[in-house]
Amino acid sequence: MTTSLCVFTSDLRLSDNPVLRGAAGSAEQVVPLFVVDRGLAGTGFAVPNRVAFLADALADLDAGLRRRGGRLVVRQGDAVPEILRAARQADADEVHIAGGVSGYATRREQRLRAALAEDGRELRVHGAVITAVEPGEVTPAGRDHFAVFTPYFRAWQRAGLRKALTAPHTVTVPSALRSEPVAVVTSLASGSPSPGLPEGGETAGRDRVRSWWRSGLGRYADRQDDLAGDATSRLSPYLHFGCLSPVELVHRARQAGGPGADAFVRQLAWRDFHHQVLAARPDAARADYRPRGDRWRDDSAEIAAWKAGRTGYPLVDAGMRQLRQEGWMHNRARLLVASFLTKTLYTDWRIGARHFLDLLVDGDVANNQLNWQWAAGTGTDTRPNRVLNPLAQARRFDPDGAYVRRWVPELAGVPGSGVHTPWRLPTAERDRLDYPAPIVDLQEGLIRFERARQ
Ligand code: FAD
Repeated sequence: MTTSLCVFTSDLRLSDNPVLRGAAGSAEQVVPLFVVDRGLAGTGFAVPNRVAFLADALADLDAGLRRRGGRLVVRQGDAVPEILRAARQADADEVHIAGGVSGYATRREQRLRAALAEDGRELRVHGAVITAVEPGEVTPAGRDHFAVFTPYFRAWQRAGLRKALTAPHTVTVPSALRSEPVAVVTSLASGSPSPGLPEGGETAGRDRVRSWWRSGLGRYADRQDDLAGDATSRLSPYLHFGCLSPVELVHRARQAGGPGADAFVRQLAWRDFHHQVLAARPDAARADYRPRGDRWRDDSAEIAAWKAGRTGYPLVDAGMRQLRQEGWMHNRARLLVASFLTKTLYTDWRIGARHFLDLLVDGDVANNQLNWQWAAGTGTDTRPNRVLNPLAQARRFDPDGAYVRRWVPELAGVPGSGVHTPWRLPTAERDRLDYPAPIVDLQEGLIRFERARQ
C-alpha cells in the first residue's frame, strides 16, 4: 500500500483542505499528522489562550477523522525530525504541508525539504490554504509585494480563486502508527486561559459561520464599527488556526452578495494583504517596515496602566479589559488602543504587539505585527501621522457608552455618554468611583507626538 503524510499546521480542518486532499489523492493511505513542537513551549507563540483553542481544534479534527474511518496521529518533539520519523515509519514517499509566511513556517519548510530529500522523499507544499490568494500571486509591476492596500485589493479581486474542496468521505490511516493523546498539546503553555474564550475547532467555526451568516452578514457594512453592537463575525481565531477556509468564505460571501458580504470580503483581503507583506519582508515582524528613527518613550507606569486598562480613558480601558476577559478585542477598539499606546503615549509598537500576542486567541504574526505597524505609522498606512482621539472615537462608535459599561464595571453605574468623561462628573460622585484620572493630557500627547515627527 502506498502512503502519504498530511502534516496539519495552520489548516486544522477537513473541508476545503488542499493538503489533506493532496496527500489522500497521491496514495492509498494517508497519515494525518500533527506535531506538538516542544520548541514552542515557553515562547511567545504558545500562550494559554491559543493553546486552549488549539487543543479544542485538534480534538475536533481527530473526531472528524475518526468519523471517516481514520484518526489524527499526534507526535511531540522538534517538528522536522518528528515528521521525518513518521514518514520513515509509514514508508511515505510524499509529505504534504501548507505554505506559511512566518519565519518559523519558512524555516520549518526549508529544513523539512532538505531532510526529506536526503531520505529520498518529496515535500509537496500547497498554496492558498492559509490565505485566499497566495502571497506573491498578485504583485505590482516590478515589485515583490503591494505596500498599499487599495491597489492590492483591486488586484486581489481580479485574482482567480481556486475551487473550494469538499471534505473526504473516508480517510484510510495505517493502523500500526503510535500517537500521543491529543491533549498532550495543553502542556505547551502554563497558566489559565481567559474566561470568555470561544470553543475552538472546525465544528464550532462552521456553527459560528452559520449563525453569523443568518443574522450578521447582511448588516455588517453598517455595523462593523459599532462597538457595543458586537456585530463582526468573530471568525478570526477560526481563520488563524485554519479551522475555516478563507477561500471557501470568499466564495460563499461573493455568492451571497450585497454590501455586507462585500465589506466582509474586503476584510478577508486585509488578512491576505498583511500575509503578502510579511512573506516579502519577514523582518517586518520585528523591525519597522518604514523606519522613521523614532526615539520611543519608555514609561513603565504608563505601559502598566495601558495593559491593565487603567489609563483613565474609558474607551481605551474597555478594549484592554475585553482583551483580558475574552482573548479577543473588537477591531475598532484594537485600532484605538494601539493608536493610544504608540502615538498618545509614544511607546514602541513592539511592546503593544507583544502584549496582544500574549493574550489574543487570534494572535497572528502577520496580522498582529503589521496592524500594529499600521497603527503606529511605521507600516503601510498612507496617513501614518493620524492620531485617534479616544473622545471622538467614543462619540462615533460608542455614543451612549454601552461598550464601556460592559467592560469597565467601576463605571457601570454612570449613565449615557457621560461614562466617557468621568473626570467631568461632580466631585463627590467621581470620588466614589475606583477609577483613575487620565494618565496623560490628550493635547500634550498630541504635541509630543508631532514634535517627535519634526
Ligand atoms: P471581522 O470584522 O468579522 O472580519 C472578518 C475577518 O477578516 C476577520 O476574522 C479577520 O480574519 C479578517 N480581518 C478583519 N480585519 C482585519 C485587519 N485589519 N487585518 C487583517 N485581517 C483582518 N487580526 C488577527 O486575525 N490576528 C491578530 O493578531 C490581529 N491583531 C491586530 C492588532 C491590531 C493593533 C489591530 C488594529 C488589528 C488586529 N487584527 C488582528 C485585525 C482585526 O482586528 C481582527 O482580525 C478582527 O478584529 C477579528 O474580529 P472578527 O473576526 O469579528 O472580524
